[in-house]
Amino acid sequence: KVSGRNQIRRFDSTLRERATGRARALLDLRMAVQNGEFELAYQPQVSAATGAVVGFEALLRWNHPVSGVVSPADFISVAEETGLIVPIGAEVLRTASALATTWPDHVRIAVNVSQVQLRSVGYVESVRNVLRETGLAAERLEIEVTESLVIDDSDREVLLRIAELGVAIAMDDFGTGYSSVASLSLLPVDRLKIDRAFVSQLDADPTESRTAVFRAIVDIAESMGLETVAEGVETDRQRAVVTECGCRVVQGYLEGRPMPAADVDAFIESRRNYRLPSAAE
Ligand code: C2E
Ligand code: MG
Ligand code: MG
Ligand code: MG
Repeated sequence: KVSGRNQIRRFDSTLRERATGRARALLDLRMAVQNGEFELAYQPQVSAATGAVVGFEALLRWNHPVSGVVSPADFISVAEETGLIVPIGAEVLRTASALATTWPDHVRIAVNVSQVQLRSVGYVESVRNVLRETGLAAERLEIEVTESLVIDDSDREVLLRIAELGVAIAMDDFGTGYSSVASLSLLPVDRLKIDRAFVSQLDADPTESRTAVFRAIVDIAESMGLETVAEGVETDRQRAVVTECGCRVVQGYLEGRPMPAADVDAFIESRRNYRLPSAAE
């Protein structure tokens, strides 16, 4: 009985701590928006065939004054629940698009969009405004929508209007969520980003079933006219297998970690006329 009471008290205080932690996080997040504590890191996407840079994905970082750099995994959900993701996401889109206008024309910028943002009033107009104000060509902008979300008819409508602007749409984290091949064909998707979970399993024997699964995803995507991107490529072996499976673009620590805006130009330059060692021989 005594230990039971202790347990209840412990449970109680954990709950309170969690609630306080959330309230604290919300306050901090509001301050962060006001004080401009967010920064973007840019991760390269390179051609599997040539190693040349085809684009960058903008990834949000929060420079918390006390905690240091906070990962999006630790604050995006709070930002979504509170609606703060809308102003934060608008700033991400504007900043990333403006930076991309300073890059060579063939280099795209991919920006993640939360479903909360997608469903907010005036989202399509805000994308159109950013394109007009920054002068970025619509074809150079790509919106990444997470596949783990249930996409309903109104989301589909918004995506169609985005696509009408000429903006590309990528299905992010493909293979982890609910979308079926059938539902994919109803969406204006240009690119499939195959989730890291499928890529990280490719280090073993290439004849095994995991490679077959990866190859099947690429084949289906290609047959639907979609380009494939392998997420989270960390080893030479993984890159070789995904390339052999017909995947067009690779993104991951092997090619490059998310980097500050100031390093992007040098990275693009370092990959100019780049050929993978095997192709150069
Ligand atoms: P995501 O869009 O799937 O982004 C890829 C994540 O995988 C990034 O994590 C990236 O740093 C990480 N990654 C890339 N290559 C590798 C690799 O080779 N190995 C491993 N282990 N990880 C790799 P990050 O930056 O922590 O972002 C996590 C998620 O947060 C993103 O997943 C995205 O869903 C979300 N996110 C990031 N920025 C934004 C944003 O501006 N808006 C919204 N709504 N969500 C964002
Ligand atoms: Mg993404
Ligand atoms: Mg992803
Ligand atoms: Mg992911």
